[in-house]
Amino acid sequence: MTKYNKVTPDLADTLTQICGEKNVIYENKEELSSYSYDEAGKLFARMPEIVVKPQNTGQVSKIMKLANENLIPVTPRAAGSGVAGATIPLEGGIVLSVEKMNKILEINKIDRVAVVEPAVVTNELCERVLEEGLFYAGYPMSVEMSFIGGNVATNAGGDKVIKYGNTRKHVLGLEVVLANGGILNLGGRIRKQTWGYDLMDLMIGSEGTLGIFTKIILNLLPAPGKTVTLLVPFDNIEKTTEAVSNIILAIKKLPLTVEFMDKISVELSSKYLKTTIPFQDKAEAYLIIEVDGDSQQELEDTYQKAGEACLKNGALDVFIGDDRKSAESIWRVRMVFAEALRLVDPYVSLSGDVVVPPSKVTELMEKTIKIANKHKVRVAIAAHIADGNLHPELFKPDYVSLEDWPELAEKIYVEITQEAIKLGGVGSGEHGVGFLKRDIFLNTKPQIELDIMRGIKNLFDPNNILNPGKII
Ligand SMILES: Cc1cc2nc3c(=O)[nH]c(=O)nc-3n(C[C@H](O)[C@H](O)[C@H](O)COP(=O)(O)OP(=O)(O)OC[C@H]3O[C@@H](n4cnc5c(N)ncnc54)[C@H](O)[C@@H]3O)c2cc1C
Repeated sequence: MTKYNKVTPDLADTLTQICGEKNVIYENKEELSSYSYDEAGKLFARMPEIVVKPQNTGQVSKIMKLANENLIPVTPRAAGSGVAGATIPLEGGIVLSVEKMNKILEINKIDRVAVVEPAVVTNELCERVLEEGLFYAGYPMSVEMSFIGGNVATNAGGDKVIKYGNTRKHVLGLEVVLANGGILNLGGRIRKQTWGYDLMDLMIGSEGTLGIFTKIILNLLPAPGKTVTLLVPFDNIEKTTEAVSNIILAIKKLPLTVEFMDKISVELSSKYLKTTIPFQDKAEAYLIIEVDGDSQQELEDTYQKAGEACLKNGALDVFIGDDRKSAESIWRVRMVFAEALRLVDPYVSLSGDVVVPPSKVTELMEKTIKIANKHKVRVAIAAHIADGNLHPELFKPDYVSLEDWPELAEKIYVEITQEAIKLGGVGSGEHGVGFLKRDIFLNTKPQIELDIMRGIKNLFDPNNILNPGKII
């Protein structure tokens, strides 16, 4: 265990000189408390001693050098939309919020890249590049809230991973400030290199434990052609999950999206939206499928084949959203999922994120429901189903007190994760290990792998000041 020092008034003064008075929160408990938790929930909150908001790489470097010399823990923070507790300052110390580093520095059509600071809101980038006829494909469902820096640090996924891959696939370059204040420039505006060990890849998904990203170069794609969204109800979960591979085979290309929502999820989302979804009385689960095509003909062929594959697999019907308004109204059902759950239960646990091979999804879904039932806990499941990535979300039952709930929820996730691992999967597809999944991560990873990871962490951060208590 590292023995950390406290932030003294002198150190707070030096940090204020580095960042400017407006960009430091010290001693104001109310303001500090907004940085004590993330979307994992307030039940896990821990107070930072100070929050600093640097505006450039030089300032980040000075903060890190100071923290390293004084053995003060530093928790990097982006938008705080993470659900694995990765931005919670477990050891107090400094929260380094990148929120002031929020500029899109360049969109370059020839290189097909965007160069951004870490606190650019993901959706802002998506919209900005679309204006240039380009497309940023790495965004998660929290697109309106999360920052690009947070997406890179968690290797975020989302609904389009089946076609475009997760955030890792879209990062070309990173400027990183290390624990000792050193600055690394990794990758660049190039799309291939065999030029030694790939340290950039190592940084992606490192959840603030290896370095702080201060500049990011992202790959852009040509904007996709026309799209159509299908809403497909099924009366049986097994039929729903099994339809997925048949859809992909039938359309002979990767769809943009195949999302799954179970009955409870759809019920709560539709209630939240004050609307009704077709077949709500009969359907046990729904797929939301999005396909694209370069021409109207190609698009029609594709969605008709997808629809036929669904009907062959026992779908109750296929609803087509072929104009912007109807497609958006289908998508809203999925997008409001988390808020809809929180409306009925403010303590609903949103940290379920297991992933298994597509062939094992049905089995994991059954096991998840069984485990939740065993503990008398209601579960709602949404899934990026074509990636085998399930989000089982747990509602706090009345028989459990608020104090005991986080522990029970994590116990259930451990059981679900153990089943996922037995089926060839892992405990997080996109949200990360953070601290909520740390025990199960450490208990299930082979020792030889953990030893290598500890060696890497020690090399980058020998004093263990960067986001301690997370991942390793
Ligand atoms: C409603 C909702 C829907 C969601 N949907 C998805 C989804 O579809 N896919 C998905 O993957 N996730 C999803 N999430 C989870 C979350 O939005 C993602 O993990 C997101 O990538 C976190 O971004 P953030 O900016 O909020 O980062 P934060 O939560 O602030 O930080 C996340 C991690 O990144 C580190 N970090 C932040 N900035 C930096 C930096 N500059 N350098 C180094 N490390 C840094 C932090 O220390 C922390 O470990 C969802 C969350 C919610 C609430």
